[in-house]
Amino acid sequence: MEESQIKSFSDYAAEAHKTAIYPEDKAIEYLALGLAGEAGEVANKVKKIIRGDKEINLEEIIDELGDVMWYLSELSRLVAKNSDSPLALVASRNIRKLRDRAERGMIKGTGDNR
Ligand SMILES: [Mg+2]
Repeated sequence: MEESQIKSFSDYAAEAHKTAIYPEDKAIEYLALGLAGEAGEVANKVKKIIRGDKEINLEEIIDELGDVMWYLSELSRLVAKNSDSPLALVASRNIRKLRDRAERGMIKGTGDNR
């Protein structure tokens, strides 16, 4: 499947899962650590730009965001296994939470349960 053929979270998740190789008995740990690691790679690329090591390369950041997405997709699949589209479920719940916070004027601030 070509990049331009990814039209939905479900398409992406199906393609991503074809490349998934990790131990089933440690899947949540493996995927959560991988997600944090790839998010760290995004941050590190941006950090090096701030330090002046290199010019900003947006394609490198896009590629790292893709790595984040892979782990996000696989972890979503694991924790929302009853959903037809776990990534869409995660996205929908996030938007619902943010809209609720916005309606209550609680976008700023801290805490998971604002
Ligand atoms: Mg990476």
